[in-house]
Amino acid sequence: MNEIDKEARDQEIIQRDKNELASGYPKWFRAIEIVGLFLFLSFAFIISWKIIASFHELWFLSLPALILGWVFSDFIGGVVHWAGDTWGSVDIPILGPALIRPFREHHVDQLAITRHDFIETNAACALAGTPILFVCLFLPIGSSHKFLSFCVYFVFFMTIFVLFTNQIHKWAHSKKPNLLIKILQKYRIFLNPEHHKIHHTVPFNKYYCITTGWLNPILTYLDFFPKLERFITKYTKALPRREDIGQKAAEKLLT
Ligand SMILES: [Zn+2]
Ligand SMILES: [Zn+2]
Repeated sequence: MNEIDKEARDQEIIQRDKNELASGYPKWFRAIEIVGLFLFLSFAFIISWKIIASFHELWFLSLPALILGWVFSDFIGGVVHWAGDTWGSVDIPILGPALIRPFREHHVDQLAITRHDFIETNAACALAGTPILFVCLFLPIGSSHKFLSFCVYFVFFMTIFVLFTNQIHKWAHSKKPNLLIKILQKYRIFLNPEHHKIHHTVPFNKYYCITTGWLNPILTYLDFFPKLERFITKYTKALPRREDIGQKAAEKLLT
């Protein structure tokens, strides 16, 4: 029994069976993910050409949009991760096996992600970015539309980074990432494995950001996710992470 399992037992945490969760990846959702990834890459390709064509007059927007996109991808990834970890059940039709199951599987078997192929790891992130990129296709880019151009630059960078969020997360769990990845992890450009271990400490209720992890200490300081949970529980009576750690352990966290 490893340290996490011991701690989970001490805190009376009850989790789903890892094999049951691993076998619940629906074929129909994989087909949707492949279509989503294809559309995402097509839209991103068109927008990248628009950005390149406008670059000579809007070059000064690129660095702020890139940095903001990088920071926001950490935030968006963190919020989605928090929602997937905290609310709902794998038994909910359609959403459960497709979107909630991977989060629950990751807490009972951290290394499962390292065995997932490119589609299972990344395509759900593409699916989330596809409608936003679709809207950007229709926004004007040019020196007479600086604000909208900035929005397109920002959304483009952010969705590209969101696309790679789970890949970066996967590398944080990989036993032997390559040298370049290790350097990027060391200097916290990518999620640092030691930093990410804090999330995998029972009861798995902090440090949800998994792109750079830069926002984790800030959101923890602001009590951001617990405040959001208290707000949602107040109005819905839903118990946060009831299914992830079991009714008893989830109730104890509330007190
Ligand atoms: Zn998690
Ligand atoms: Zn993880």
